[in-house]
Amino acid sequence: MRTRHSLLGGSNADRWINCPPSALAEQNHPDTTGATTVEDTIAHALAEHKLRCFFHLEPKRKPVIPDEYAAEMERHTDAYVSFIASHIPQGSQLWVETRVRFDQWVAGGFATVDAIAITDNALHVFDFTYDKNTQAEAGNHSYLKLYALGAYQMVRNLYSIEKIYGHIFRPRRDHVSSMHINLDELLDWAKNTVRPAGDQAWRGEGRRKTGLWCTFCRARTSCEEHAIENLQHPIHTKDNPNSHHFL
Ligand code: SF4
Repeated sequence: MRTRHSLLGGSNADRWINCPPSALAEQNHPDTTGATTVEDTIAHALAEHKLRCFFHLEPKRKPVIPDEYAAEMERHTDAYVSFIASHIPQGSQLWVETRVRFDQWVAGGFATVDAIAITDNALHVFDFTYDKNTQAEAGNHSYLKLYALGAYQMVRNLYSIEKIYGHIFRPRRDHVSSMHINLDELLDWAKNTVRPAGDQAWRGEGRRKTGLWCTFCRARTSCEEHAIENLQHPIHTKDNPNSHHFL
């Protein structure tokens, strides 16, 4: 069973890293974005089953898939397994649906990573999002880097890691992408950006800063900075395509 994210989790990382007070401010507003859907949960269970079979890991029973989901879900999870297999050799060390902690840098920080792999001196983290309504923040690789930090914290005593790769697979949003960062860069980001932002976020301190991360912020309806930003920048329309605002 997949679990909810921590207060300073991966999915909202761009937001609390750029605007630390948003994390506590959001707690005053109900979460209407929706928990993980049944469909998403089944898809992850099926993907886990297929990955375990393909990579010869301890098997888990194939989940029961409602008929109305079956064809599409089988197709997309097959593609997900192929996507991972195209990035790592079959003999790679692989962990599936693994809880990791990045609490060395962020108090209480944890996440469930869909797949983690070690190949030679490289660490790969994979994000599989099936729910097409999941609110993905454009250009947000911060959560992948947090997942990588958690995976690194898990394996660092066992493997010599130099390179980090993060991969996003969102078949129902036609979104597939990968990023790369050296371990030194990742640890520098963790120390000098993530840790100070996390400390501020837990205390509700820091400066409110608007940006694309405001889009899904639950506190935006009561946020003065967000309101000012919207007043200063006209709403994006066909007649005014260069404008922007963070509704
Ligand atoms: S709406 Fe934007 S500026 Fe305001 S708290 Fe949320 S993330 Fe920060």
